[in-house]
Amino acid sequence: MDSSSHPTPQLRSPEQAADEVIALFKSPIAQGNHGEVVPQIDHALQAAQLARKANARDGEVLAALLHDVGHFCASDENGSVEGIGVADHDDVGAGYLRGLGFSEAVIDIVEGHVDAKRYLVSRDERYTGRLSGVSTRSLEAQGGAMTSEEATNFEKTTRFEEKLRLRVWDDQAKVPGALVEPIEGYRGLLVRDLSRTSA
Ligand code: FE
Ligand code: FE
Repeated sequence: MDSSSHPTPQLRSPEQAADEVIALFKSPIAQGNHGEVVPQIDHALQAAQLARKANARDGEVLAALLHDVGHFCASDENGSVEGIGVADHDDVGAGYLRGLGFSEAVIDIVEGHVDAKRYLVSRDERYTGRLSGVSTRSLEAQGGAMTSEEATNFEKTTRFEEKLRLRVWDDQAKVPGALVEPIEGYRGLLVRDLSRTSA
């Protein structure tokens, strides 16, 4: 067999991986709403902008930008449920980001953002009332409120505070028509994180 027709997979450079993420954000699936009032891409860009405004660390800004990538990096066959998207999008997204070479400082927060909701629901009744309709509907599919033992264990996980902070931006980043910096404005941040972990 002609080996040239089966090239060994090339590792992406940080720049290529960043451009892949940017292209994904511009793809039709990222323009979908998954039942929310704003498209996925707007939700992600608003969350990242809120993180920047709060002077969050670069890793937190990237986690805010990428937290829901699991909804649109996977095909529809990967468990997307009408109206709530991919229920385990935290794990799907984390796996995707790990494959691209992002740092654990980013991935860990993305991976914990659904657990942060389950935590807050268990610890703060008012929080539950403030969730959007989609977030409330998806909660059951995501395991519901944490038990008090689960919540105590979650408090001991790495970047616990960051996971809760992302949740605040996540819940706020649903404003129709809000002006946001385009995804290209995050290319430098994306490349910097990818360069650090691939070096
Ligand atoms: Fe999410
Ligand atoms: Fe979200």
